[in-house]
Amino acid sequence: MFSRRLFLAASGAALWVPKMARAQSGIPHFTLGIASGSPRPDGVILWTRLAPDPLNGGGMPPGKVQVRYRVCTDEAMRKTLQDGVVETSDEMAHAVHVQVKGLQPGREYFYQFYYADEESPVGRTRTTNPEDTEAKIALASCQAYESGHYAAYRDMAAWRPDCVIHTGDYIYEGGIGELGARLRDVGGGERRIFETVRLHNSNEIVTLWDYRNRHALYRTDPHLQAAHAAAPWIVAMDDHEVDNNWASHTPQDPEKQTKLEFQIRKYAAFKAYYEHMPIEKPPILRDMAPAIQLYGQYRFGPAHVHLLDTRQFRSDQPCGDGRKPYCADASDPDRTMLGAEQEAWLAKSLKQSSAPFNVIATQTWFTPYRYTEAPEPAVTNLDSWDGYPVARQRLASMLADGVSNPVFMTGDWHTAMASTLYEKPFDASSRRIGHEIVGSSISSGCPWARDMETVRDANPHVSYLNGKKRGYLRATFSSGDCEAQFRVVEDSGRADSAVTTDLTLRTSDL
Ligand code: FE
Ligand code: CA
Repeated sequence: MFSRRLFLAASGAALWVPKMARAQSGIPHFTLGIASGSPRPDGVILWTRLAPDPLNGGGMPPGKVQVRYRVCTDEAMRKTLQDGVVETSDEMAHAVHVQVKGLQPGREYFYQFYYADEESPVGRTRTTNPEDTEAKIALASCQAYESGHYAAYRDMAAWRPDCVIHTGDYIYEGGIGELGARLRDVGGGERRIFETVRLHNSNEIVTLWDYRNRHALYRTDPHLQAAHAAAPWIVAMDDHEVDNNWASHTPQDPEKQTKLEFQIRKYAAFKAYYEHMPIEKPPILRDMAPAIQLYGQYRFGPAHVHLLDTRQFRSDQPCGDGRKPYCADASDPDRTMLGAEQEAWLAKSLKQSSAPFNVIATQTWFTPYRYTEAPEPAVTNLDSWDGYPVARQRLASMLADGVSNPVFMTGDWHTAMASTLYEKPFDASSRRIGHEIVGSSISSGCPWARDMETVRDANPHVSYLNGKKRGYLRATFSSGDCEAQFRVVEDSGRADSAVTTDLTLRTSDL
């Protein structure tokens, strides 16, 4: 047994050393910070990972070790509410997931981990509460490490939201770029600057070793660590956590890997994702088919959040993917975005919701966007919901059937956006069903921003569009309104860049 009294006698200082700990003084183990997530009214998941050599497999010796944690009601970590010891090992990359239970709803808590004579940073978290009158939710996506520093996360941490939703592209799988700024042709005779400000740590990632080291690289960023330490996160991956534009069992380059090779790669990606995220369940592997549970529902006061997983179960993109007009394949009624099981779950989750707002947190845009002027046939992005018109219509009809104030909160397209949604997506004379608000990317560039700007008039349902700046979204829900603040980073090449509000809007004004 560990002595709680002994620890308290040390009054929070790093003086408590368990007897079995090896002397490892001087080598830091909490190099990847701490995190909390999947918040509930009575509990939350706490996360950390011991990684004295984070970019080389973590650097822990093989075997089991014990990590202690405490949960306090005060930031100074004096009033211990719960503590315990958890075991971890090289099998899980020395990651730690603690499922804390027995907390009060709608309260702030603080937590810290201890290993040998070392203590981690202190994290703040918050339980959910359906009775809260307001909910402050930050939305993040697309944080290509090479394309920018994380000033957006510095600013997000300072806001201290009730929750951060991350809708994917937490890491990028690509290889090592080349430092420096270069002009890139963006069409229409225009060139824009794109910058590589720091470098990835390996070639394109494929193995478990690669995925772990890539997650670790991203997680060494101090501003990303600060955003994790500031609030609980709920997360679902998009494509780049595995492979660009993958769909279910199909990789981006089916000719470069067999189906079995892609399954093994996906399992490695899912496992490393779990090892670095404050989520409830590790992936499972059945007959060489990996699966990870990411979709789920959360209630934050006036906002009922339905977090979707639009990669694991979707049909392959139609018509060969990319930006194209529809071919016959796109309208095949058997094509799915969510898979039958998740779609049924969502229908139930929406039906049961009694909240004034129903947030649907999804990876790719639900809003239709045409890249051609009428009467030309609409060219759309076939990786987004535009490539899944039958599945989108089913969800739009579901939302039109009495769901209170649907608000999609979305990432993926590296472009901030606000829109009004209609029951028939391309028909603004049909019934309004809700809105979509999209944060800009944390750091990933947007080479297609100009293409979108030139066809703004062909997309009158879109009331705000900004692909030029990096940033994120702050959404504040009350019983009567959703206020969105689109935060933009002045210079994503600088970690200390100013971050300002580009626009504040209320969905009731759209
Ligand atoms: Fe992205
Ligand atoms: Ca994406």
